[in-house]
Amino acid sequence: MTPATTSPPTALSPPAASAATLELQVVGGSLAAEVKALSDASPMSCYQCTKCSSGCPVSGRGDLSAHELVRLVQMDQREAVLRCRFIWECTSCQTCITRCPQQVDICSMNDALRALSLSARLAPAETALPVFNEAFLNGVRRRGRIYELGLMAAFKLRTRRFFEDMDKAPMMFSKGKLPLLGERVGGRREREGLFRRAAEGSKAEADRAAEGSKR
Ligand code: SF4
Ligand code: SF4
Repeated sequence: MTPATTSPPTALSPPAASAATLELQVVGGSLAAEVKALSDASPMSCYQCTKCSSGCPVSGRGDLSAHELVRLVQMDQREAVLRCRFIWECTSCQTCITRCPQQVDICSMNDALRALSLSARLAPAETALPVFNEAFLNGVRRRGRIYELGLMAAFKLRTRRFFEDMDKAPMMFSKGKLPLLGERVGGRREREGLFRRAAEGSKAEADRAAEGSKR
């Protein structure tokens, strides 16, 4: 382990968030470096204390716990990481980083891992979240807001989960949560600009990750 070099903190200059952390040397492989380049999270700072997993609402319910995911990233187990369900099931609640003595931001790490998983076409078949996310964003792009019935139809057609959760539809109709006609809002040009900039940002991030993996 290589301790980070820091100046002693003073009353006027509190230590930076990462000043107290240690970071393992990357001894081979590139996944940890790619994750760091994409998200600024530092998987190599984890020393497996498991505090993240004991507060995580998803750990223990899926295929991995939070600290196990970080360990797999450290060990450069790319395929196991990019195929796991945990990265998709993370709720981004940020409990892990709040509890972590090393400030490992697993929440941001998971965002980066989802992007890598999608671009490597390794997202697990058991999770429908990538399909849901895509249908959601397509709806926002077209209409400027969500049209719930259209979103449900697009999701069910793609996943073939035609009858799942259908028992909830009558209650949602009766409470006015599923309007038959969706609204459209203006600003289509601005939305297109937004999506274009996001795509450019994703490409820049992918280049940064590729660069990070070479270091
Ligand atoms: S709390 Fe932090 S240091 Fe502890 S296992 Fe989780 S990520 Fe690693
Ligand atoms: S942000 Fe994700 S990994 Fe962290 S505690 Fe919440 S659900 Fe678990």
